[in-house]
Formats: sequence, structure tokens, C-alpha cells
Amino acid sequence: MQNVDRPKALKPLMEAATALNNPILQKAKGNGKKVVGFLYQETPLEIITAAGAVPYFIRGTGSDGTEYADAFFRNLACNYVRHTYNQILDDQLDFLDGAVFYNSCDHARRIYDNWLTVPGNPVYHFIYIPKKRGDLAKAFYREEIEKYIKATEEKFGVKITDEDLRKAIKLHNETRRLQAELYEMQKGDEVYLKGSELIAVMMAGISMPLEDYNELLKELIAELKAQGPQYKPAIRLLYTGGHADSQEFFELLENQGGQIVVDNLGFGSRSSAVLIDEEKAPLDAIIDYYFDEMPAATRQMHTQDERLDQLGKLVEDYKVDGVISSRIYMCDMWAFEQYLMRGYLAEKGIPGLELEVDYVPDSQGQIRTRVQAFVESLKSQKNL
Ligand code: SF4
Repeated sequence: MQNVDRPKALKPLMEAATALNNPILQKAKGNGKKVVGFLYQETPLEIITAAGAVPYFIRGTGSDGTEYADAFFRNLACNYVRHTYNQILDDQLDFLDGAVFYNSCDHARRIYDNWLTVPGNPVYHFIYIPKKRGDLAKAFYREEIEKYIKATEEKFGVKITDEDLRKAIKLHNETRRLQAELYEMQKGDEVYLKGSELIAVMMAGISMPLEDYNELLKELIAELKAQGPQYKPAIRLLYTGGHADSQEFFELLENQGGQIVVDNLGFGSRSSAVLIDEEKAPLDAIIDYYFDEMPAATRQMHTQDERLDQLGKLVEDYKVDGVISSRIYMCDMWAFEQYLMRGYLAEKGIPGLELEVDYVPDSQGQIRTRVQAFVESLKSQKNL
């Protein structure tokens, strides 16, 4: 892939995605903003924003070992929770003023359980989110969201009004619109961002106040448009998988002759695909979005057809030649997802490569060889 001048606005976004703390978040904290950690995309972030705090995606970026965390998890716990909890025990996430969890998967829940035992921990609430859709489940979900709002109000000593929720929806929707514009720019034969950059830009959106993020996104889009598309990928790849946020990993995938033009990640393209209705009563709109309207998450039962259709649509819209999926060691959720995807991709004649990886990239040689072979086979299919 050729080296080209990168837009100025990309730098702070990349910085925010590749470190736990970042200067923009620090500045916001200096100005009295509270920061609330969350894990995975079904957490209704508008509630945190409406309380005047910044939602922050909890992760283990920068971890180089799991020596502290190992005592707290069984051998079957995934690598992501080990590295993340290690960073927590090493005080690397001590800038968090609050943290909220939900029943995303049993591995992630163990972070919640263990963290609660640490004196002075920031955890203040756990949301039970139904895994099935339906009227009964939705009524239960509404109660859970009301409890989550109450807990957030008590934690930060604020009252969350309808007007606060309305403003938060507008702010998050603005982010979604800008991100969707960026994805739209990746659809042409020539594209504006490398996949590693695109994924980092999306991660930055859950690492800093959205007001700052939206400004940076506007600058980035303007700079990219002024510069014009810089890459003409011979092989267009879609990346999907369980939690992975290492730049090194994405660069490794892209340095073998193919380019990621789009992702199907919860914090990536899926988070900007649908807007929250701004006309409805704000709490109803938030509940409808997170319960029924946003692209289904892997944990949601009976949504496999919807998820696979979403993948197929991305492959078509972005003219993708091949799909790379990765699963973090011991992640059972993505073991099932890769299994489902395997059948779907084979049936549709879409080439796919499944990887199993550590949260902190290892076995680079093996991954490199497999990606190289995959890209070569795609090239020969296209007579390149
Ligand atoms: S990587 Fe998989 S097992 Fe680990 S927390 Fe995420 S979904 Fe759960």
C-alpha cells in the first residue's frame, strides 16, 4: 500500500484509539467532566451523555501481560477480559468516575463481579438486557432502563430530564450521521481511509466527549474530500470479529496485499447504521432503538438471519472480495458467529478467512502466512 500524506485531524483520533487515556479526554476531565466506562454496544450511551458524562469503551489497550488478572479468572476466560482486567488492576483505567455493565457475555460479566471487590471501584450499575425480542421482554427492558437512569442520577447527583435525553439523542445522531458519511466514502473503487485508520476513527468515538469528536470528524471529512481518495485497493476486504482494537493487528492484515474497506463491528459500521428517531418521546425512542432497531448483536437470540443479511449487504455495498473474521481465544460467542458465517459465505460464494487471535497480537508469522495465502487466492480469482 502506498504512503500518502494523512489529514491533520486523523492524528488526535488515532492517538485516542491507540492509548487508554488521551489528551482530549484529560482536558475534559480537567474541565470537570465525568467519564463512565461501558462494555459493548447495547449499553444505551445517551443516558450517560444526558447525565453530563462521557461514555468510554472499557478495554485493555497497551496491556502486555495478564499476571495480575490471572488469579481472578478461570482458564476458560477470554483474553480480552484478562488483559482488560489487568489494566484495571494496574490502575490504567483510574480516570473512570463510573462504570456500567450488562449481561453481554459471561466472560465480560466476570470483570463486573471482580471489580466490585476492589475498594473504591467505579462500578455503579448492572443492566439486565433481554436476549430475546418481544412485548414481555420489552416491558422488562423498559424497567431496566428506568433503573439504569435512576442509578446514573444518584451516582452523579443530577436529574436527567426529557430535554437532556433529547439533546443527547441529537448529539449521538450527529456522530452517527458523520460516521455514516465516512463509510459512504469507502464505497467507491478508490477509498479515502485504510481499514486500520477507519477502525481507529470509530474507536476514538467511544474514547472522548462527542462534542470534540464530532468537530474532529467534520475536519477529517473536509480534509479527506479536499485531498481526494488516496487508495485504489486491488483486493477489498471486510473485517469482522470479536473485540480487537490493536493497530498492529489491522496493519498486519492490510500489509499482505489486501485493504480493509469496511468493517462489521459493533463499535464500527453497525453503530452508525441506524439513527434514533428524534420525533418520538425521547425515552421511548431510546428504548425502541436499543431494543428493536439497532443492528442485532451476536448475543441476541433468533437474529442470526438478520445478522447474516447485514453482513451480505455490506459485502455487496462495498464490493468486497473477501471477509476476514477473527475470534479472540476462548470467545464462545464468536465461535458460534464464525460457524454461522461459514455456512452463509459458502452458500453465497463469498470467500472467507477465519482467524483465532490473542487480544495482544501474537503468532504474527502464522497470521501473516494465512492472510497472504487468502489474499493470493483472491487475486488469482480476479486474474491479478
Ligand atoms: S471477546 Fe468474546 S468472550 Fe470476550 S468479552 Fe468479548 S464477547 Fe465476551
